[in-house]
Amino acid sequence: MIGIDCHTHTNVSPDGSGTAGGLCRSAISKGLKAVAITEHIELNRWFSQEHYGIIPRNEDELFNYSEIMEKAMKQNTSARGTYGSRIHVISGIELGQPHLDFGLAESVINDARLDYVIASLHEVIGKEDFYYLDYNKESVDELMERYFKELFKICEWGKFDVLGHITYPLRYIEGECGIKIDFDKYEEQLRECLKSLAQHGCGLEINTSGLRQKYGKIFPSIEILKMYREYGGEMVTIGSDAHCADDVGSGVEEGVKMAAEAGFPYLCYFNEREPIYIKII
Ligand SMILES: [Zn+2]
Ligand SMILES: [Zn+2]
Repeated sequence: MIGIDCHTHTNVSPDGSGTAGGLCRSAISKGLKAVAITEHIELNRWFSQEHYGIIPRNEDELFNYSEIMEKAMKQNTSARGTYGSRIHVISGIELGQPHLDFGLAESVINDARLDYVIASLHEVIGKEDFYYLDYNKESVDELMERYFKELFKICEWGKFDVLGHITYPLRYIEGECGIKIDFDKYEEQLRECLKSLAQHGCGLEINTSGLRQKYGKIFPSIEILKMYREYGGEMVTIGSDAHCADDVGSGVEEGVKMAAEAGFPYLCYFNEREPIYIKII
């Protein structure tokens, strides 16, 4: 068993539950060797609500992520202090929407307490998180195009370690709403993102949360993993995207199988922003 989960949340994230202690104890009881705690840091809400002068559009639209960052870093350091002899605790963040202010994003990820940075795109400019959109009223086509266009900007920036759940909108469009997406339409845009990731030495995440959700599959598909590899991409991490202690490590072994099937000889996790490779084939 590889036993490494590179994507988890606690109640420090607005949509997570449970403590870092509970998460670590659950990971240890399941025999994991390493766990990354990667709280949401939505960069477009780093400052206070007054700073942006807008009202929250839903219950997850918290502001002041600068405070959440501080809480997260203290939590991660303390979890490592308590559980570090039994499990490798990786101090990470999931940085959402870094393309809205790359200067700010760089100052955030320069925090010396960070081992690991996942970059994510949960919402396109002017829209709410994909979780909240009504796909019977939205143009799915336009949304997907915008998603990949903005994602490409993030890939071109390339200062993060790994891109999280590259096919995130599918969790809701296909999974929750049952609207089938013809991926061929976006293949060119998707390929540009994968090529850029590989060129910038950034990794691609295998996110197993879909296995526990209506979507029923891992993000992304094996075909997408293979495309990344075609462009010379070598860095693959696996994360459950657990939002509670029970889900930590969930689907990780299926993810390892998929990485091996796609031809990746190694998986990696991060320490002090440097990849550590583990042989899987
Ligand atoms: Zn995410
Ligand atoms: Zn997440």
